[in-house]
Amino acid sequence: MDYLCPVCNGLASLSQACPQCYTPLADAGRLYDFYGDYSPYREIDDAKWDNGYPDREKHLCLHTGWCSTCQLAQTVAIQEWTPDML
Ligand SMILES: [Zn+2]
Ligand SMILES: [Zn+2]
Repeated sequence: MDYLCPVCNGLASLSQACPQCYTPLADAGRLYDFYGDYSPYREIDDAKWDNGYPDREKHLCLHTGWCSTCQLAQTVAIQEWTPDML
């Protein structure tokens, strides 16, 4: 079965608030893109195993939420959708 991230696909927006100031976080892209600067040669699948989140198993897409008030990045796990949820 195919899984797709509603945020990556523009079907939903990041609905996570900053834990410190409750400003809605802006989507700063997928976590893998965020880390891309630091590990340009790493395969995405490798990153999925090494980041400490069971995202592959649970079908989560990890995004970086950015709080413009705190200047803080938060990791937000988005539950990926299956086609029958669309
Ligand atoms: Zn995503
Ligand atoms: Zn904040």
